[in-house]
Amino acid sequence: MKTVIRGIGQIVSGDVAAPFVDGDTIVCVDGRIAGIGREALVDVEGADTVIDARGTTVLPGLIDSHVHPALGDFTPRQRALDFLESEVHGGVTTMISAGEVHLPGRPRDVVGLKALAILAARAYQSFRPGGAKVHAGAPILELGMTEEDFAEMARAGVKLVGEIGLGSVRTGRDAAPMVRWARRHGMTVTIHTGGPSIAGSSPIDAETVIEADPHVVGHVNGGTTSMSPREIERLVGQTGMALEIVHCGNPRTALHTLRIAREAGAADRVILGNDAPSGTGVVPLGILRTLALLAALGDCPPEVAVAMATGNTARVYGLPVGRVAPGREADLTIVDAPVGSVARTALDALRAGDLPGVSMVVIDGIPRVGRSRNTPPAARAAEVTRGHAPGGGH
Ligand SMILES: [Zn+2]
Repeated sequence: MKTVIRGIGQIVSGDVAAPFVDGDTIVCVDGRIAGIGREALVDVEGADTVIDARGTTVLPGLIDSHVHPALGDFTPRQRALDFLESEVHGGVTTMISAGEVHLPGRPRDVVGLKALAILAARAYQSFRPGGAKVHAGAPILELGMTEEDFAEMARAGVKLVGEIGLGSVRTGRDAAPMVRWARRHGMTVTIHTGGPSIAGSSPIDAETVIEADPHVVGHVNGGTTSMSPREIERLVGQTGMALEIVHCGNPRTALHTLRIAREAGAADRVILGNDAPSGTGVVPLGILRTLALLAALGDCPPEVAVAMATGNTARVYGLPVGRVAPGREADLTIVDAPVGSVARTALDALRAGDLPGVSMVVIDGIPRVGRSRNTPPAARAAEVTRGHAPGGGH
């Protein structure tokens, strides 16, 4: 199964250190990227599918590092259907659960929370809304868990720990041994920070985060109430943790985190998430909106912001996506400036504060979405010139 994307104007790599790849053509074989370069120099023979990008921009499929699925593509939190598939129309091809916290009757006993984590991990392995890769099964830690509980979940395929602090484990002292066990069994751990998102939980400050020692500082800019700028500076300067900026958080501390992380040479630690569904809502374009925030108001080169939503997250979570590089899974989002924008390219649109138009989303080398039903229309739209075109939204 071979797919060729030709006529590309600009390729964004997803690598924060080298954010562009030279070339106008990407070749995908059996779901992985096999070649990138000038059309005359790569092997385009015998393609089953050919996509003409019409001079537009190709990004790695975006990664949402913070989603709260329940089961299926329904969220009880905002009573919305197809919210995951809707994110694919926002250019997102991979989503990472920060905990299945909205499941009605979510069990809080140890047997029940393990069962839910295993169920969610396995169910979303087989269920691909809009073709998206949803990594779920992110247990919420409760007091009384033992190392064997983590070992058992890991054996059953659980690779994540959801936001620490949403269950009864809320202090650094209670969390630290459990985080060590989770790390030992190969799980990637995140923690809620800042003020409580809903009544009944407690604030988590920098001191608690440092003592707990997770991989990811969850919503460093609040979900929705942020830690103070001083606490954020401490976590940037004194730890090597990933710093997750979310759409449904505080925009001022999002930009503060961006600025001090870049000044500290830690742009590779910044990752981007939606933190939806939440009280803020369901936001299919949340990752694109965060890219526009960082690029337009945070003076971040848009290609670097894209790397924060792709290659950085893939590295933190050990996923074979997020980069336009040989061997990576061929998840790609084709974008252009929207109709009517002051900008002429997708990256210039972000710099100007506009959202690019998504004209095609390719997952595992297969065109899954044509013109997005959620973004404004791309001025120039990619087109399938050989093979099966995906369904569009408009
Ligand atoms: Zn949270």
